[in-house]
Amino acid sequence: MTESSASAPRSVSRLILVGPPGAGKGTQAARLAEHLGVPAISTGDIFRANVAQHTTLGQTAQRYMDAGEYVPDEVTNAMVADRLAQPDAVGGFLLDGYPRTEAQVGELDRMLSEAGVSLDAVVELTADIDELVARLLKRAAEQGRSDDTESVIRRRQEVYAEQTAPLVGLYEARGLLVRVDGLGGIDEVTERVLTALG
Ligand code: AMP
Repeated sequence: MTESSASAPRSVSRLILVGPPGAGKGTQAARLAEHLGVPAISTGDIFRANVAQHTTLGQTAQRYMDAGEYVPDEVTNAMVADRLAQPDAVGGFLLDGYPRTEAQVGELDRMLSEAGVSLDAVVELTADIDELVARLLKRAAEQGRSDDTESVIRRRQEVYAEQTAPLVGLYEARGLLVRVDGLGGIDEVTERVLTALG
């Protein structure tokens, strides 16, 4: 028997990755998605692509992004509904940066139940806020993202603490939460998550 036919099919195919700005969600999302054989769907990346292409959606999103605020739920939810309906996401997905508000959680629940599927896990990457601010300032210097100035970085941490951190408890109550220490080497963190997912 070959190794691949001996391995059981992955049972984890619909996931959310959550964590404060700078915790390495984007990097881990791409790696985890590849391991799990599902697309990584990053709302931040989709917004940035729209900004770069000067679409109407991009023009709307940019104002909020540059201030460190969340793009309105109606705009974000419609964009995610479109993306999840694409063929590559039918068998599974890893959502990076969505849902971020209680209204988005409700809307995602609705989308999934309409499709007759459910979430398998919500992975929270945890990290120390001061460490994250330092990381983001370093990234700002390297990449020049327009939402990476110090005041915007601090505002993004506040918005996360106020609006998104409470959602973790909600998923914990549903028995879906997998909490992983996000500080450490990239490979180390990926391994931690994959081990925690089993
Ligand atoms: P990220 O790359 O995930 O840090 O997202 C960058 C920015 O895009 C955020 O600061 C928000 O302005 C916007 N954004 C990304 N995802 C969402 C979301 N789920 N809801 C509202 N705004 C979002």
